[in-house]
Amino acid sequence: MPRPIVASISISALQHNLAVARAHAPGARVWGVLKANGYGHGLERAMRGFAAADGLALIEPDYAVRLRELGWTKPILLLEGFFDADDLPVLAQHDIQFAVHCEEQIAQLEAFTAAASLHAHLKMNSGMNRLGFKPETYRAAYARLQKIPSVASITLMTHFANADDAGNPLLPLAEQVRRFQAGSEGLDGPRSLCNSAADLMHAELANDWVRPGVMLYGGTPGGGSAADFGLRAAMTLESRIIGIQQVPAGEAIGYGSRFVADKPMKIGVVACGYADGYPRHAPNGTPVLVDGVKTGTVGRVSMDMLTVDLTHIPDADVGSQVELWGSKLPIDEVAYAAGTIGYELMCALAPRVAVREV
Ligand code: PLP
Repeated sequence: MPRPIVASISISALQHNLAVARAHAPGARVWGVLKANGYGHGLERAMRGFAAADGLALIEPDYAVRLRELGWTKPILLLEGFFDADDLPVLAQHDIQFAVHCEEQIAQLEAFTAAASLHAHLKMNSGMNRLGFKPETYRAAYARLQKIPSVASITLMTHFANADDAGNPLLPLAEQVRRFQAGSEGLDGPRSLCNSAADLMHAELANDWVRPGVMLYGGTPGGGSAADFGLRAAMTLESRIIGIQQVPAGEAIGYGSRFVADKPMKIGVVACGYADGYPRHAPNGTPVLVDGVKTGTVGRVSMDMLTVDLTHIPDADVGSQVELWGSKLPIDEVAYAAGTIGYELMCALAPRVAVREV
């Protein structure tokens, strides 16, 4: 008998959101990004949801092989490349494409002399200062890759830091684009630039490939509402009220007594805690739906439970339905209230939560 907490994953929402990504980038091919276990939705489920994608992109080499075993025949891309030269024969065998972002990877490719047909995505660090070659060294890296007999194609790739905040004074989007163009000018190969934010808000950058992630799951990549972009929540996390407390004014609720009732209050206990993936740092007032009525958390989130104010929902009782996030309560609204982003909530869904496909 499971606890009454379940994450419903909508395959049709994944399909719908993929179509939205494609519509925003006409002419571009679409990588469905499903790293981190499909942003918490399940690798295999995400694969099925993105069946119409032109390829699947992720981080984990073992999961890339798993996609082949699951029957995915279209391109697969490792966004951070390979982590170990020993992986190259396996990647070649399964026709798994990979990013190349550092000299060490190029040296390992040069030393890999087996007959193979490898597809490299040469990553430029156009300002984010995470992975990639600086614009001034990009051309030399390209030239080295070009000379490697097993490298059959080179895609030109960069990743944006602020596509959701294009005017960021520290690194405007236009500056990243300018550096990418300057560093890659005249080089042959398809271009791959856009994450969700760029796909949704900067169609002019779409180019040959786009790499949307969070939007495919119905989350917004930055401020604003996913629904405004026509996206649908793919994950709905639901639970139930398992206990009610009538709390007199002046009494506190939960660990650390972080919430004190200022009037007599009806408190509901929800079977969902941080061990299910709910953020422990969610403050008082983080939105929750009980029987479809909006209320907020009160007191600290504990491992297996959280508490909500039911004072204004007289009909709520043990057994009442609770939506923590999803189709009626946007995950981004909960995330912002908790000082995080929807990505983190999706990815943090705990293995003990039952998952049901809808
Ligand atoms: N491309 C690369 C290289 C990434 O690292 C990511 C995710 O971080 C994405 C695309 C997808 O980003 P998003 O989920 O913001 O669309």
